[in-house]
Parts: sequence; structure tokens; C-alpha cells
Amino acid sequence: AKSPHASGACFYQADMDAAVRERRRLVSDLRQALKAGQLSLFYQPQIATGTGRLRGHEALMRWQHPSRGFVSPADFIPLAEETGLILPLGEWALRTACAAAAAEPRLGKVAVNLSPVQFRQAGLAVLVADILAETGLPPDRLELEITESTLMQDPGRTLEVLRAIKALGVSVAMDDFGTGHSSLATLRAFPFDKIKLDRSFVPEIDSNPQARAILRAVVGIGRGLGIPVLAEGVETPSELACLRDEGCAEVQGYLIGRPAPLAALSLSEPAAAA
Ligand code: C2E
Ligand code: CA
Ligand code: CA
Ligand code: CA
Repeated sequence: AKSPHASGACFYQADMDAAVRERRRLVSDLRQALKAGQLSLFYQPQIATGTGRLRGHEALMRWQHPSRGFVSPADFIPLAEETGLILPLGEWALRTACAAAAAEPRLGKVAVNLSPVQFRQAGLAVLVADILAETGLPPDRLELEITESTLMQDPGRTLEVLRAIKALGVSVAMDDFGTGHSSLATLRAFPFDKIKLDRSFVPEIDSNPQARAILRAVVGIGRGLGIPVLAEGVETPSELACLRDEGCAEVQGYLIGRPAPLAALSLSEPAAAA
């Protein structure tokens, strides 16, 4: 008879096989997704904390799978990055967001996420320039969000690409600030126009003095460097009040507005936070 250990290992192997098959299926579905029109962009508002004025929207990818329903970008973006599919997907997102913003001035500035894989692609700055020309979006209405992992991989080349993008008049935001390993060194070395404080910091700023101290320090660093800070994931009025008191320039989160399709946005006046 098999020992419990052996049978455990056997189940584990079966689980692994199932996971591998599942992953392959998802990748092949993702390959079709763009052509099949299953991808769309949702937009989430970003507002000035002090005035409540709408500043812009972040574009967030959504995948409506025919049988699985909605697949979260947290699940399919990593797959797209591993397989290189992020290149066509990312280009589609950039073009779609720029076209939407060009057609709808009330969208304000549109912020588009860039994967590290896109940064390693030759000619990224040229692609951005082409898309701006093609859609007619003024460069100062586009912001590109990049994470620290982008910068770590090849800092010299990344700096070159960042400068080329900024030379177009496009701004660049450091996304997920505070989750990486060398955020401070990075801020000094790269020409960012905005710091996006990661949403993991925000829930406790109104209840935990340590979290509040970190917020205060990040806003202070931003002020010293002349870079405005945006806080992500703001969900309650009391968090918003803290962010306002601490001088955080912009906020984004469910309290202000959930990501929504273009047609569902209320674009007249900013909803929350006068
Ligand atoms: P991210 O860039 O940090 O985007 C912010 C995420 O926080 C979004 O998740 C947004 O829906 C969510 N969020 C916004 N406000 C709140 C809030 O108040 N509370 C909570 N709990 N969450 C909030 P989403 O849309 O699921 O996207 C997840 C991640 O997928 C993004 O994180 C980004 O890293 C990636 N992603 C999404 N779209 C794209 C894209 O077009 N290109 C690339 N490369 N990555 C993308
Ligand atoms: Ca982002
Ligand atoms: Ca983020
Ligand atoms: Ca809270």
C-alpha cells in the first residue's frame, strides 16, 4: 500500500498538471482576446485633494472572457508579460486611451500603465510619439505610470527612454511607491512628475500613527523634490481628510469613483471632496 506521503505527492503532481493545463488554456484565450474584442478599458478619476477638481483618469484594462466572465488584470497582466502578449495589449491600451482622451476633453489627463516588458521593447518613445500624432492627443494630456521593477532591470537604458518620452511633453508617474526596494534612490535618479503612494499604505492613515508618519514623510520627500504625491485606494472620508491635512496633492480611489467604462463616467463636475 502507498504511504500517506506518497499519495500526497501524487495529488500534488496532479494539481500541478491541472494548473499547467489551465494556464495554457488561459494564454491561448488571451491570444484571441484582442481580436475578439474582449478587452476594454475602464477609467478611474483622479482629483486634486484641495479643490476637488478633476485632474484626470487612470485607464485600467478589463478582460471579459466568453465563459469565465471577468478576468482580473492582476491575473492576466502577469501572464501577458511572461508570454510577450503584453506588447500588443499594451500598445492597444495606449492607443485606445489616447483616442478616448482626444475625443473627450472632459476626461482630463489620461494615465496609462506601462509594463517593464514594454520598456525593454525598442522604440517605445517612437511608438508613443506615433500614437499621439495619430490620435491628435496633446502630449501634456498623457501620463505614463511605471513601477520600480521597470527601473531596476536596466537603469541606464530606462533613463534614456524616460528622457525621450518626457522630451515629447508626456509626463511620467512612479506607480506603487513604497512597495519596492530602493524607492528613495530611484526618485533621485529618475525624472518623475508624480509619485503614486501605493494603496497598501492608505487604509490605516486615519487610524494608525505609524502609517500616518509614513504618509507625512512621503509627502515631505515629494515636496523637497518638487514632485506632487497622489494617494491611491482612498475609500473613506476620514482617509481623504488625513490626506488633505498632510498636503497630499491628488487622490484616487473608490470614494472618489470606481473604475468604469467611458460611457458610464460622470464627467460634468468632480463628484466628491469640495
Ligand atoms: P494599479 O496600476 O496599481 O491600479 C490600481 C488598482 O487599484 C486598480 O486595480 C484599481 O481598480 C484598484 N483600486 C482603485 N481604487 C481602489 C480603492 O479605493 N480600493 C481598492 N481596494 N482598490 C482600488 P485593477 O484595475 O484590478 O488593476 C490591477 C493592476 O493591473 C494595476 O494596478 C496594474 O498594475 C495592472 N494593470 C491594469 N491595467 C493595465 C494596463 O493597461 N497595462 C498594464 N501594464 N498593467 C495594467
Ligand atoms: Ca497604475
Ligand atoms: Ca498603483
Ligand atoms: Ca481607514
